[in-house]
Amino acid sequence: MPRSSVRDADMRRSRPLVISADEIRARIQADFQRGGKAALVDEDCPGISVHPAAPLPKHEELTWCTRPRGPYRVREHTCLCQPVHYELISCGGIYMFHRVIGVDRPKHSYAGGWRVAEARLWWRRLLAGQVC
Ligand SMILES: [Zn+2]
Repeated sequence: MPRSSVRDADMRRSRPLVISADEIRARIQADFQRGGKAALVDEDCPGISVHPAAPLPKHEELTWCTRPRGPYRVREHTCLCQPVHYELISCGGIYMFHRVIGVDRPKHSYAGGWRVAEARLWWRRLLAGQVC
């Protein structure tokens, strides 16, 4: 499915702008309980990009701010079908996370400021639900 179709599908939905870690966890657990194949046949999910794990009960909180350090390139991203999606971005030689919550009026926030090796470690923690 082309990316634009995913965006169009997302645009038809109405989602809250702010989602708590508990709500993210509940949504992902509900998705998991529908079965591993559910995501692959969901018309809104191309089934290509990773879905981050739900935040663990004892996850670490990152400090999020409203702006990146400068112009950036997207290096990795999670699936756009999720209510919250993340990008690993690089601004010059510095890596950050870009978090997008909601679709209709998305809320953008940024965290980090790492060199590449450290950023990859944080990215794996994020995908595993160890940080949020
Ligand atoms: Zn997906």
